Amino acid sequence: MIDVRKIRLIMELRESGITDNNTLSALETIPREKFISNSFLDQAYENIALPIGNDQTISQPYIVALMTQSLELKKTHKVLELGTGSGYQTSILAKLCRRVYSIERISDLQKIAQNNLKSLKIHNVVLKVGDGNKGWLEQEPFDRIIITAATNNLNKTIFSQIKNNGIIIAPIIEKDGKQILKKIVKINNKFQEENLCDVSFVPNLDGIKN
Ligand code: SAH
Repeated sequence: MIDVRKIRLIMELRESGITDNNTLSALETIPREKFISNSFLDQAYENIALPIGNDQTISQPYIVALMTQSLELKKTHKVLELGTGSGYQTSILAKLCRRVYSIERISDLQKIAQNNLKSLKIHNVVLKVGDGNKGWLEQEPFDRIIITAATNNLNKTIFSQIKNNGIIIAPIIEKDGKQILKKIVKINNKFQEENLCDVSFVPNLDGIKN
């Protein structure tokens, strides 16, 4: 069955500046309704953030699409994601790169994400429960890093785990408390920053929650 709401959402994303066809087709392919609780099913294709349990949210489709497009993914890329949540963004990334390594600090969410990925037969993803702020030492360096929880500062560890010419997309909390989605590119060991848009992400917290 053709889902009219899904088509409407994809058209809305295109009109909002999501022009990368690979990103749009990944959003069209991955069923967002599988990642949210049943009480919100009728809103799965609305352009809004929705609860995924444990006081966390699945981002608005526009922000997922913007982050994905801004990563400029290639099929050969190895990607680190901090904040797996439901695994929705992870699944989109998995369609567009070689392998995704994703870290979540809440073990209940990690289990949910694992089941979601399994039911969609997505196999090029490795998940772990951990503090994403420590990165993934055994797997570095990464071509791309995406952070889906708002942080005051990216630490040295994260900067050290991205390859030269690599891109980091992250919501950064500014001094005035506002969050800005940033694209940070590593060029010759220097980092160039570009502001993408204002955002509202859940906070990045240290340590693991069992
Ligand atoms: N992208 C996810 C939603 C992420 S919400 C999706 O598509 O569903 C942000 C997630 O980051 C939450 O699940 C939160 O628990 C997690 N998180 C916050 N701080 C973290 C940290 N330091 N390490 C790992 N995960 C973290």
